[in-house]
Amino acid sequence: LNAISIDIGGSHAVCAVVDDRRILASEALPVGDARTFATLLPGLAAAAGRALHAAGIAAPDCAGVAVSFPGIVDPFSGRIFSTPKGKYDDSHTVDLPGWARAAFGLTLRIENDARMALLGECYCGAAQGCEDAVMLTLGTGVGGAVLAGGRLLRGKHLQAGLGGHVPVLFDGRACICGSRGCVEAEASTWALPEICRAWPGFEKSALANEPVLDFAALFRASAANDAVAVAVRDRCLTVWASGAVGLIHSFDPEVFLLGGAVMKSADQILPFVEHYIHTHAWTPWGKVRILPAALGSDAGLLGAIPLLTETRP
Ligand SMILES: [Zn+2]
Repeated sequence: LNAISIDIGGSHAVCAVVDDRRILASEALPVGDARTFATLLPGLAAAAGRALHAAGIAAPDCAGVAVSFPGIVDPFSGRIFSTPKGKYDDSHTVDLPGWARAAFGLTLRIENDARMALLGECYCGAAQGCEDAVMLTLGTGVGGAVLAGGRLLRGKHLQAGLGGHVPVLFDGRACICGSRGCVEAEASTWALPEICRAWPGFEKSALANEPVLDFAALFRASAANDAVAVAVRDRCLTVWASGAVGLIHSFDPEVFLLGGAVMKSADQILPFVEHYIHTHAWTPWGKVRILPAALGSDAGLLGAIPLLTETRP
């Protein structure tokens, strides 16, 4: 099966044409200044058209258009309930299925980016063939997704399994979701600068000289044994691992996947998280397999076929 697969990210969107488990062609375009869908959609249509041409596929030969989006969305109606801060102000009025029909003559389904990544990883990545998997994506925010019995778990209001907003500290930092001490508020790229600057001794840490306080900088400094960096790193690792234990207790998966851009430092993350989970998760049946995502930024694009072929509940 072929499909048009569009991954809308924070800084750019990727328009691709996929053939089952392969990406045949893709094109990235910046979305940094697109504050509305109205300004973004013509560019997406043109880029997808060029990807179709490059792949030698005609639109009518596609099963549909799949969109990965960083927010809460209804896959079947195409409605969008939450967007990244300051972006896509017209999300309440945009008719994405109508756009796909007009541009390509195809049906459209949209899904949350973490769920798309999990679909991709279970279809052709680290958890291929797995039917019960939980994923955390570590990045600007922390995404979460659950596959249960081979189906995405969405919940009554499409918010099930949003693992980044599971609280790990009841008196922790304020989160963008309104809660406190969420995994995302305690250990994500947006939260990290504030966490570092508030740490005792920060001024004398190598981190104080970093122009950008992201996880790459944190892992660099902690690898060089900077005391503050090591302490902040270990705290973030514990936050992720503790959240993971909560998700494992909630959803009983056989595989737990860690993905997202922060996993470029997987060698500093995986052993800790795996050891913590295997020490603290209550799994008398055995051990949850803890795996790094395998598809990188392609995972969401490769979730297209499973999303488009999913039978409506
Ligand atoms: Zn939250």
